[in-house]
Amino acid sequence: MSVFPGHGSADGEELDAGKIKLVMALRRQGIRSKGVLAAIERVPRETFVTGAFREQAYDDHALPIECGQTISQPYIVAFMTEKLEIGDRMKVLEIGTGSGYQAAVLAQLSRRVYTIERYRTLLDDAVKRFEILGFHNITAKVGDGSKGWPEQAPFDRIIVTAAAPEIPMGLADQLKIGGIMVVPVDVDGGKQGQQLVRLTREEDGFKKEELLPVRFVPLVEGVARES
Ligand code: SAH
Repeated sequence: MSVFPGHGSADGEELDAGKIKLVMALRRQGIRSKGVLAAIERVPRETFVTGAFREQAYDDHALPIECGQTISQPYIVAFMTEKLEIGDRMKVLEIGTGSGYQAAVLAQLSRRVYTIERYRTLLDDAVKRFEILGFHNITAKVGDGSKGWPEQAPFDRIIVTAAAPEIPMGLADQLKIGGIMVVPVDVDGGKQGQQLVRLTREEDGFKKEELLPVRFVPLVEGVARES
């Protein structure tokens, strides 16, 4: 099955109608940032899901992607992006490229997005999608995202889209002063799901806020052996 169906069963008009409904639903759920809502409108989520799930591209839930991973629920993408308070001159690091959807949304709002994925297959597909869509301000690589991207640090913003066992301070150290990181962190070793945590780097330390209970696939150390 191709991951890039030209025109699958869901037709363009249905998808557009679905997208409008989704944006309205996000507003109702409290997403206020015009920039974030516009970014969600500009990024075709159907390009980031595999053929069988195209019709569900604008339903507000997570969907399976290759390698046993998931593309996050649109509400969570919008919520995390809003909490990052991204400006258009900013340099953003994402850990967990997955389908590339979150990176594409971030790329609408920032100067450049750096994104790291531990599965080669996922990374290659995501990069192809960025090329097809003409999103040129995303730099992507295979690697262990828990180590960050020291050569490109410091970052204005960091988003982790996989659940960390504890707040990854190695990543937090790659933030500029005033920088913000949003990361899902296991509660009780993951048995109680995760809390979405926002960390803001201040002159003399970090401010921590707990935002929302969430469920993400785990952040796993090392590069995946299977592709
Ligand atoms: N942001 C993605 C959803 C990510 S799912 C999207 O918009 O589609 C989480 C992703 O994190 C998975 O693809 C998983 O392989 C990846 N991941 C988990 N641990 C990682 C690590 N240490 N480094 C890089 N990527 C990791």
